[in-house]
Amino acid sequence: MHAMVLHRLKTPLKWMELPDRAPGAHEIRVKVLACGVCRTDLHVVDGELPNPQVPIIPGHEIVGRIDAMGHGVTDLELGERVGIPWLGHTDGTCPYCRIQLENLCDHPLFTGFTRDGGYATMAIADARYAFPLGEVGSDVATAPLLCAGLIGWRSLVIAGDARKIGFYGFGAAAHILAQVAIWQGRSVYAFTRPDDAKTQDFAKSLGAVWAGGSDQASPEPLDAAIIFAPVGALVPAALRAVRKGGRVVCAGIHMSAIPSFSYDILWEERELKSVANLTRKDGLDFLRLVPEIGIKMKTTVYPLRDANQALADLRAGRFEGAAVLTP
Ligand SMILES: [Zn+2]
Ligand SMILES: [Zn+2]
Repeated sequence: MHAMVLHRLKTPLKWMELPDRAPGAHEIRVKVLACGVCRTDLHVVDGELPNPQVPIIPGHEIVGRIDAMGHGVTDLELGERVGIPWLGHTDGTCPYCRIQLENLCDHPLFTGFTRDGGYATMAIADARYAFPLGEVGSDVATAPLLCAGLIGWRSLVIAGDARKIGFYGFGAAAHILAQVAIWQGRSVYAFTRPDDAKTQDFAKSLGAVWAGGSDQASPEPLDAAIIFAPVGALVPAALRAVRKGGRVVCAGIHMSAIPSFSYDILWEERELKSVANLTRKDGLDFLRLVPEIGIKMKTTVYPLRDANQALADLRAGRFEGAAVLTP
C-alpha cells in the first residue's frame, strides 16, 4: 500500500510504500476510494491536539470498499462500501460510554490521529465504528459527510430548536449544515472572513438569508450560532449575535485563545457549549437523512500524492466547500 505519512509534527507528509497489513479481530481492511481533508488534519499536522502520535497516516473522512475482514466481523460484508469516521474505537466500559456519551470516552482511538487513517490506498478500521454507506452518492461527494457532516450534525442538534441560526466560518462543515438547516426550515445567517465576498455569495447561493463578514453585527438577534472556524475571537462575536437565552456552540476540536469579554454578553441565560467528536448514533441518524435532504456537495479533488497541497489550500482558504483526496 501507499500512504502520505506524517513523520514529524509541523513537517510535510511524505509519500511512502508500506507493507499491506492484515485486519485483526473485529477489524476490516478497505481499499480507499476517497478521503476528505478536514481542518482537524491541520491541527494534527501542527501538533495542536493533546498527546500527538507520530508517525501517523492522517485522514478521518474515509470512503472505502472492504477487501479483507478479521475474525468476529458480523454486520459487514466483503465488497461493501463503508465510511470510516473520526471516532475509531471506544472502551465501552468507562462512565461516559455507559451513559451513551461514547464521544467523551476516557480511552478512545481516533482515526488519522491515534490510529492510522485514510491518506492512503488502504486503511484498517474497527468494524464496529464503520458505517455501511450503500451505493447512493459518489465516493468523493460522500467523504466530507463523514466528519464535516457528522460533527456538524451533532453541533446542529446541540444548537437546539433555533429558527434563526448563525454559522461562523463557512467551509466544508457549514456548507453541508446550511443545506440541512434550510431543509429543516431554519433561516441561516453566514458569517465569513471579513470581505470574503466570494464565500458570502456561495453561502447565499445555498440559501442563506444573509451573509456578511464575521466583523459585522448580525442583522437580527439569532436563536443560536455555531462556530466552525478555529478562531477564539468569534466566541464573543457570536455571543453578541444571539438573543436572550440563545446558545453558542463551538464545533471545532481546537481554537485560538478566547479573548476576555464582559459578562453582559453572556448574561440573560445565553449559553456557550463545545461539541466533541461524535457518537455512532449521530452517524447513523445523519447518514439516514442524507438521501432525503439531497445535499449538494462542493468538492475540490486532489490526487493522494498532493495531500500537502490540499492542506496548504485549506489553511489559506483557497477553495469553497471541501477538499477530497483520491488514490
Ligand atoms: Zn469509554
Ligand atoms: Zn474532521
